Formats: sequence, C-alpha cells, structure tokens
Amino acid sequence: MGSLADLHSHSTFSDGRLTPAQLVDLAYRNGVRVLSLTDHDIVDGLPQAFEAAGRYPDFTLIPGIEMSTDVPGNEVHILGHFIDRHDEAFLVRLRQLQESRLGRARAMVQKLAALGKPITWERVQTFAGEGSVGRPHIALALVEAGHVASVNEAFDLYLSRNGPAYVERDRLSPEQVIDLLLSVGGLATLAHPRELFASGNLEGLLTALKRSGLTGMEVYYQDYLPDEIEVFRSLATRFELIPLGGSDYHGLGGPQQREPGDIPLPMEPVEELLALARQRGALERARIAHVR
Ligand code: AMP
Ligand code: ZN
Ligand code: FE
Ligand code: FE
Repeated sequence: MGSLADLHSHSTFSDGRLTPAQLVDLAYRNGVRVLSLTDHDIVDGLPQAFEAAGRYPDFTLIPGIEMSTDVPGNEVHILGHFIDRHDEAFLVRLRQLQESRLGRARAMVQKLAALGKPITWERVQTFAGEGSVGRPHIALALVEAGHVASVNEAFDLYLSRNGPAYVERDRLSPEQVIDLLLSVGGLATLAHPRELFASGNLEGLLTALKRSGLTGMEVYYQDYLPDEIEVFRSLATRFELIPLGGSDYHGLGGPQQREPGDIPLPMEPVEELLALARQRGALERARIAHVR
C-alpha cells in the first residue's frame, strides 16, 4: 500500500542510484504527491529535483537534507525539511563536510588495501559521481572487485561502525545540527530510530533534542513492522513530535529497500508539517501543489 507522501529519499548527489529527475519521476509514477529529497550533507541535487517536479502540476517537492551527527557508538541522522538551500553560511558548512567525507573515504580505501581487499580510489569516485562520497560507494567498489557479494556484506564485514575498515569523519553533535537546520529555516526530524531504541538511548536523546527544537521523528520508515510503528508513534506522541516517515529510497537493492512511497505514512502528520512550515514562513521554499 503506497503513501501519498515520502519525506526521505536519496539521489546520485549522495548515495542514491537515481538522478534527482529519475527519482521524482519514479515517485510520481508510484503515486507519491509530496516528496522530499534528503541527500546526505548536500543540497546540490535540489535544483534538478525542482526542475523535474515542475513538470507535474499536482506534485509537491520539499527541499531537504539528511545530516549525520556524532553520538558515541550510535548513528544518529537528522532530516531537515524546508531548509534554505541558498544560505551562504550553510553552504560553507556543507562544503566542509564534503571535504571531510573525501579524506575519510580515502583513508578507508587505504585500510582496505592493508586488509588485503584493494580497490581503486578512481572507482570509488566514479560510483560517488558529482556529490557526497559515502560508504555505499566504497561498498560498490568492493562488490565490483569481487571482494564481497553484496553491499550489505561489505558493510557487515568491513564498513560498519565497528568494522575493520571504518574511519570516523567530521560530524556535528545532534544539537549543533538542529541549530544549523533551524538557522536556515528548516524543521528537524530524527531519522530511523530503531537502532537507538534497541540500544536504550532513544528516550534520553529525545528529551535533549526536543529541548533543542526537534519537530518530528520518523515512525513510518522502510521495513518497520506495525508493532514497531506503534511503539514509535506513542513515543512521538509522548515527546510531542510529529510522527513522520519515508522510504529512505537509495535504489541499491537489498532486503530492506522500499520503493518511493512504499510506506504507510498517513497524510495527517504531513499536513501538520506543512502547516508548521507555513507558520514559520518556510512553505514558499517548497514547490507546493494541492494534494488530493
Ligand atoms: P556514510 O554516509 O558514509 O556514513 O554512509 C552511510 C550510509 O550507508 C547510510 O545512509 C546507508 O545508506 C548506508 N548503510 C549504512 N549501513 C548499511 C548496511 N548495513 N548495509 C547497507 N547500507 C548501509
Ligand atoms: Zn544513504
Ligand atoms: Fe540515514
Ligand atoms: Fe537516508
């Protein structure tokens, strides 16, 4: 059952397989009418996404970003919706994060060589294309070189946070990321809380992040089961967060992949997000069409 909205997706400007235009087309074909492109630490794919969205009179595109944050032992990702993608200070900060990603990916390639799993930097760069370089691009190079059978195996054996080829990169704290997103008129949402919940750190984090200005939490995400959705929905209610969600579509395959819109996200919380954006004067940054 598809949803009319999908607030989390990736393109070739980070580690997605489709260009922004291809992503918009696929989402539209799947019945999605409110989409946010949320590439990792980069907004450079948004102009192409807006151009593609312009071809559909009944399609709303929300400018977005997904930012990784530094919390010991955990992957905490925060989505920013309705960000001002033209803000100079914001763009400078994002460029610094790109630099740090490059240095870190090169260091991971070196570690892999030392582990007897050589890949070339050129292949990683080719997979990364014009945008943010990330671990999935290294994983694709590992698959191509025959060192692993799949992207998932590359993560399991080498690239995960505790893996032998992992290298840390520059990250801001969650509070700094929320401040940054708010400074460019964005609304901040905690992404994919499952691992944080399992580690027992979710409630403490939500208390802190709510104080920093968090707006929402992903509840309807990828392969989350009805029972999990219920748990996260009641947590969202308790912390007064809008229960949002998305497919986190990358187009890289794998058992957890969902197509754009293939999540049970209802429209009511999406309307709530749009209303909040309107209140804050950020709605004009989206390409708004009338839904339904
Ligand atoms: P990075 O931006 O370099 O930290 O890489 C993070 C990205 O890697 C995430 O956004 C996911 O798309 C992907 N990823 C993380 N863990 C896995 C995994 N176990 N299997 C496949 N992809 C993963
Ligand atoms: Zn990704
Ligand atoms: Fe993420
Ligand atoms: Fe994502």
